[in-house]
Amino acid sequence: LPELYFDHNATTPLCGAARDAWLATSDRFWHNPSSLYPPAGAAKRRLEDAREALADLLGIDDPERIVFTSGATEANNATIVACAADPRSTALASPIEHPSVLAPVRRHFDGRWHEAPLEPDALGAAIRESGAGIVAIMAANNETGALLPVPDLAAAAREAAAVFLCDATQAFGKLDLREIDSWGDVVVGSAHKFGGPKGVGFALLNKGTELRLQTGGPQEMGHRAGTEDLAGIAAMVAALEDADLPSTSAEAAHRDAFERTIASRLPGTRPVGAEAPRLPNTSMLILPAERNLKWLTRLGRVGVCVSTGSACSSGAESGSHVLQAMGIPHDEIDRAVRVSSGPDTSEAEWDALADAFSGVWEDFADRSGDRKPSLDLGSL
Ligand code: PLP
Repeated sequence: LPELYFDHNATTPLCGAARDAWLATSDRFWHNPSSLYPPAGAAKRRLEDAREALADLLGIDDPERIVFTSGATEANNATIVACAADPRSTALASPIEHPSVLAPVRRHFDGRWHEAPLEPDALGAAIRESGAGIVAIMAANNETGALLPVPDLAAAAREAAAVFLCDATQAFGKLDLREIDSWGDVVVGSAHKFGGPKGVGFALLNKGTELRLQTGGPQEMGHRAGTEDLAGIAAMVAALEDADLPSTSAEAAHRDAFERTIASRLPGTRPVGAEAPRLPNTSMLILPAERNLKWLTRLGRVGVCVSTGSACSSGAESGSHVLQAMGIPHDEIDRAVRVSSGPDTSEAEWDALADAFSGVWEDFADRSGDRKPSLDLGSL
């Protein structure tokens, strides 16, 4: 069965450039970069070359502002833990953050955090009122693709003297990064979302951000202890170098055409947040009938990989906290399916995806003995 992979917001396949860089680096530079003999020195230089190449890609002058981590979850957790060390400190976080932000905020700022307003003046006022030491607001939402005005929000936080944590995991490889320096004090990325390997990522620290993310050895300029995953880091940088931004408008055009096709073939379908700025590759659909897990199972049987947007935790189907925060009713959240394409997704694949949705829809209708599946009239 040919696979139709439309879950790039969950993870991406390793791109050729990343694979080559990973193999070459792990073959040649396997010594510990912190050791003192010449081959280790070569590994250390390879590491610093990767840091410089990433700094170039991000358009920043000082490569030492980049701290390599094991991914976005670690960088988010470590930033929040570091900011929570002061027991008087409080936090503000947007309600649509990824669980790798919301869970550590809840845990380490238990009773000391509030929802962050997503409008700059209101955010500045909320920081001053609450005395928040940290604000966490993502650049792009993983479920709906919604883009947040992070440069303005980060500026408001800076003025009010709070650390601004921007989980930009879904932005790399999808958005223009030229303004990244204005995205916050700690800007977080993860390789496996843009064609790099799993288990490697980075935090870009703003000038003067003195966060000790992990203690132990002196690696990463003292910000994050632990032997660096040099091959993973080299592969991550190669993947970002390889990311093809100019194709993003074509990607959005395919996505938009798919949404129109689905809306005409499955009346009552609606995309979430299509009227606001969003990532070019993401479509969160509220389908007209049947639970999303049923859709996923049926689509999976014909080789289609899509997701519900939120992984159900420990078997409890609590539904997407992002859609809940947007005020979408539970019965609609139960029918939400997320589709996310990659840079190489072709128009033919989008067409095949639309056909797969139509096929499952017809199949539901046949089984229910109706002409069409039972529609939830409330959603029309
Ligand atoms: N933040 C966002 C917005 C994500 O989409 C993800 C991926 O699931 C993460 C954080 C976690 O990233 P990682 O897998 O690198 O820990």
